[in-house]
Amino acid sequence: MDRERSAHREHPSGQASASTSSEYGGSPECPLSERVFRRRETHAVRCGNVVIGGGSPVSVQTMTKTDTRDVLATLAQVNQCADAGADIVRVAVPDMEAAEALRRIKAGAKCPIVADIHFDHNLAVAAIKAGADKIRINPGNIGGQERLLKVAREAKERGAAIRVGVNAGSLEREILERYGGPIPEALVESAQRSLEFLEEHGIGDLVVSLKSSSVRATVKAYVLMAEKTRWPFHIGITEAGPGTGGVVKSAVGISSLLTLGLGDTLRVSLTGSPLEEVKTARSILQAAEAAVLGPDIISCPTCGRTQVNLIAVAEEVAERLKDIRTHLKVAIMGCPVNGPGEAKEADVGVACGRDGGILFRRGKVLGRVPEGEIVDALVRLAREAAK
Ligand code: SF4
Repeated sequence: MDRERSAHREHPSGQASASTSSEYGGSPECPLSERVFRRRETHAVRCGNVVIGGGSPVSVQTMTKTDTRDVLATLAQVNQCADAGADIVRVAVPDMEAAEALRRIKAGAKCPIVADIHFDHNLAVAAIKAGADKIRINPGNIGGQERLLKVAREAKERGAAIRVGVNAGSLEREILERYGGPIPEALVESAQRSLEFLEEHGIGDLVVSLKSSSVRATVKAYVLMAEKTRWPFHIGITEAGPGTGGVVKSAVGISSLLTLGLGDTLRVSLTGSPLEEVKTARSILQAAEAAVLGPDIISCPTCGRTQVNLIAVAEEVAERLKDIRTHLKVAIMGCPVNGPGEAKEADVGVACGRDGGILFRRGKVLGRVPEGEIVDALVRLAREAAK
């Protein structure tokens, strides 16, 4: 931290009010600045009406947790996820009945459908014939390269994309033995071997994932893989677990990769509902500044100086502005310590004090409003600014 930045007032949030990620990303003093936030260039791969990679927005995926053979339940969950912001939804295909159910699921789905296949390449072929927009296969358990090629040729013929999904828990035995465990280099070799094989046989439209439940191993694997291929990356931390721990682990891993410019589509893998996965994925994208999925709400954590019900104000403002899709910074601050400074830097903001707050728009003071009118006034200002 430079002298000027370290001289900023200490704040209960633990952050200096003037530092931003964009300042950091562009700093010539930062030895990593060449790599930070610069998106890796990749081929574009079409999955239904969503393009993965090639500079397209990072898409959000999730996976249904219903029995795929139950078409109505699965379709309902697919569309709930799409309504919540999932761009692509994956379904498990453990048997032929599930593969056949895909046809009806696909017909009613609001977003592209990925079929998740393990062990039986015939299921992959059936899922592609049933209309899957993409299949996820695991080279470690699909039964060898000839079977992989059979699936890939079917996918090519019908325009389906293929995710080569390497997982630390199911690497090819020979690779596992040679490396002595599922280390990042082993994941990379497994993926590279399959990609090269498919490319040699004229197969394109590939996406790669290298999943481990270890954040460090996952990040290292993708960094290594980025040197070896131009196919886009599906990122995530597999089996991240339940609750806050799972959310935090996913956020740490995924945001680390996004910060390095790695990741073209992502899935948060929680022991929880798919809607929670979608919500978490979108929050990570927004926090990593990899997407604009709502306004950037800058609100203080509150402390003993707060004299309005700031938590309720912040929550209501965030809820009422969640449909905004333009860059908009909204500051909601509890007192004069950092309040005016943050509010002035934001597009619109309020710096609260006793029983009310001072409204700001792009650095200019607009006047004071009583506490009961803060939310309406700030929402009105924000909507005007968003236009
Ligand atoms: S009330 Fe003031 S000092 Fe306390 S956290 Fe909010 S802005 Fe910071």
